Amino acid sequence: MNIRDSEIVAGLFLDKGYRLAKSQDEADIILFNTCSVRKHAEDRVLGNIGILRKLKEKRPDLVVGVIGCMAQHFKQKLFEVSNVVDIVCGPSDEEKLPSLIGKFLKTKKNILSVENINKPRKEVLSGYRENKDSAYVVISHGCDNFCSYCIVPYVRGREISRKEKDIINEIKKLAAQGVKDIMLLGQNVNSYKDRKDRSRGGLGFIRLLEKINRIDGIERIRFMTSHPKDATEDLFCAMRDLDKVVKHLHLPLQSGSDKILKAMNRGYTVKKYISLVNRLREIIPGCRLTTDAIVGFPHETKKDFSKTCSLMKKIRFDAAYIFKYSPRPKTASSKLKDSVAKEEKERRNQVLLKMIKSQAICILFVVCIFGFGLPQYAFADMDQAEIAFLKGEHDLALANCDASGRGNYLKARILLKENKIQQAYDIFENILQNDSDKALHDVAQLGLADAFFAEERYDDAIGEYRKIQEKYAGSPFCALAFYKIAKCYRKLGQMEQARVYVQKLQQDYPLSFEAKLMDELDNSEFVYSVQVGGFSKYANAENLVNKLKGKGLDAYISEKEAFPVVYRVRVGKFKAKSDALVCKALLEKKGYKTKLCP
Ligand code: SF4
Repeated sequence: MNIRDSEIVAGLFLDKGYRLAKSQDEADIILFNTCSVRKHAEDRVLGNIGILRKLKEKRPDLVVGVIGCMAQHFKQKLFEVSNVVDIVCGPSDEEKLPSLIGKFLKTKKNILSVENINKPRKEVLSGYRENKDSAYVVISHGCDNFCSYCIVPYVRGREISRKEKDIINEIKKLAAQGVKDIMLLGQNVNSYKDRKDRSRGGLGFIRLLEKINRIDGIERIRFMTSHPKDATEDLFCAMRDLDKVVKHLHLPLQSGSDKILKAMNRGYTVKKYISLVNRLREIIPGCRLTTDAIVGFPHETKKDFSKTCSLMKKIRFDAAYIFKYSPRPKTASSKLKDSVAKEEKERRNQVLLKMIKSQAICILFVVCIFGFGLPQYAFADMDQAEIAFLKGEHDLALANCDASGRGNYLKARILLKENKIQQAYDIFENILQNDSDKALHDVAQLGLADAFFAEERYDDAIGEYRKIQEKYAGSPFCALAFYKIAKCYRKLGQMEQARVYVQKLQQDYPLSFEAKLMDELDNSEFVYSVQVGGFSKYANAENLVNKLKGKGLDAYISEKEAFPVVYRVRVGKFKAKSDALVCKALLEKKGYKTKLCP
């Protein structure tokens, strides 16, 4: 939502003849578009404003403004928190920003503009869009739900839907400009209602989807966020029947405990949530399902938390955002004791993250093996060979592989994992040339690309991943292709190109497992290390680490994967690949089987 708001504000300035600056140093006006949903986000903004102090001292004419939720929340206080801030402007006044800046430039007096957030907003159809192929379209502002932990109704106001005809006109205009991909945004899209509409039960949103589906030029429609209390079977049927609507639902769960859901004022029970998911999967088999969960809500006991874990395990989401609870001012829950200790919140956060990651890995493998359209819970029905493969028991998997195309594909995957690239490559090629099974053909294409990647033939790998990206636009495979292409460009040292694909991934598939992986990759320093073993038992990995340390080597256990459990032993963290290769040669001389790991 904030990305689109920033685009709208940028458009207002561009219309008045301003230019977008390439960097902070070059800018005459810096506006922070802020979010108050989490305290952490606010702290970061305040930190970034603080950093501007030096720049402002050097260039006193620099204008600094704070817009969005924090402006509405802190109001006058922002001038007190930092004397760097010149303008504070709330969400409902943002269309006035160019004139407020003009006024400030004349008077040099701080300006506060935070009018009633519940007044209908003026329609601002800014022509500025960061991405030319896809566009965010806001369908409603604010929220009426008053979840007990959420600050949105206080800083963004009550829910106000935009007029249907304005939304349709905006999308028609976008389609005429070549935009193919639309993301509809609202705090609760299911309760969208054109002001003239008298329908109930989410029909306003369904009608909107139907109308957008008919717009020539638009190829994909996505939306976010759906509230479980307002999501209906009618919506799922519409998602199934409307060919342009991407089969993905983001349905925030928040907790698997009815006690906590009630305290959160979410308006649904665990039973209702499960029945919604079951109906969704019956109506749209293979529909991608993602969620949000909050850990450490006041009075969330270990038992409540384990209910969340069990439910998430049972549902097997494709991806999830996990948030650690922090009290937000004005909200109902802020009056409750923040009873779960910080460390315990962190622990619960890690438990859920690991679980989701391990499930997502399994799902990824399942997709790789079987292709699309497979319900995620099909994992339970896999035959002996595939289960053994997922557990890392390659010998057992090979022993159970039959001579069918599927058996051959599995053999090739195992060969690839064992670094027998040429043999794997030949099998993938053979499947691609001779097998008529479409699903198998598709995954073999991915296998071939992975073989090129393993061989460090990154240009060839990019070519193959691109074919997957084009063929599966809008599907989980496409997110995977973006991720792999970005990794190839990084390996080639073409960071600019890598960045383009990272942005595509984060923009088009923000909740995907790959976007999460990319975040982790970006947050970690890029280093090479040498892998000397992988163990299912921690004690064995620890033994090897101690042995290597005894020889003066910088050994450590680098990763734990929750399923199958693998404790990897690595040596060194090298910035230069050449240094890592020296270490690798040394270890091989000592008789270790090694692998270079970026
Ligand atoms: S539905 Fe609840 S969590 Fe979402 S914006 Fe509204 S009040 Fe906040």
